[in-house]
Amino acid sequence: MQIFETISELRKSLLPLRLQHTLGLVPTMGALHEGHLSLIRASKADNDYTICSIFVNPTQFNNAEDLKHYPRMPEDDLKLLEAEGCNAVFMPEPIEMYPSEPVINIGFGALETDMEGKHREGHFNGVGIVVAKLLNMVQPHRAYFGQKDLQQYTIIRQMVKDLSMDTQVVACPIVRETDGLAMSSRNLRLTTEERKIAPQIYKSLKHCANQLRDGKSVAEARKEAISFLDGLDVFNIEYIDIVSTETLAPISEVSDFEKTAICIAAHLGQVRLIDNLIVSDEV
Ligand code: AMP
Repeated sequence: MQIFETISELRKSLLPLRLQHTLGLVPTMGALHEGHLSLIRASKADNDYTICSIFVNPTQFNNAEDLKHYPRMPEDDLKLLEAEGCNAVFMPEPIEMYPSEPVINIGFGALETDMEGKHREGHFNGVGIVVAKLLNMVQPHRAYFGQKDLQQYTIIRQMVKDLSMDTQVVACPIVRETDGLAMSSRNLRLTTEERKIAPQIYKSLKHCANQLRDGKSVAEARKEAISFLDGLDVFNIEYIDIVSTETLAPISEVSDFEKTAICIAAHLGQVRLIDNLIVSDEV
């Protein structure tokens, strides 16, 4: 497995390669788990050469404590990627990615009005900048993103379209622990007690999806999900929104289960967890 730390090394190796082979890029912030590895596998299945980037991107954190405590375990990550047969890793230092503070601002209009865009100011500007940089550096044929970050996937798909980038954006399903908790690097920061209760988020999503499928109104189903989680007295809910997967705007009536997502962000102790479920998904 090739390891690149500088943009020049990366370009020297990859630019000739991409003329003859298909390249798949999997951008991550490391502390890799099965969710990330599912993206690596999807890329390997579709492309000749897979590169994973590991970079804890400071510009997308709106909370200094979250950035400081974000898990970093590069040695374990390299072992996992090697075992998966990933061809290359790009792990730059912050100074390599940001030799100076970027002045550009990327806005995503109505796509970032709600949910993560609303609650994490400047987050998608940071995500947009780092993903645009990575796509420019690697120029992959395909780039892989998890549905876990549904709004992130949607804004990146839009950015690639708006800027005519020559990369296909591929969405991969959420990988869960056996008890339903969506895998996340942040789960490592949960205490034993918090870890036990965390799957209740998925339980509330499933219950809400069932209610919508049974014909309950959006307002009622949402209210029940909120009172279920609130009733457990451990979650601090940031939002529970029932949205169109196309516009990401909250809806008041469901017209298509396949295009409706229930999205949650909630704090459990020191950890902010997000999860979502498409209403038509079999659960
Ligand atoms: P992160 O390292 O958290 O920035 O995530 C890197 C990529 O992995 C993003 O596209 C995430 O959506 C994706 N990802 C993270 N967790 C999961 C999961 N449980 N299932 C599927 N994809 C995931």
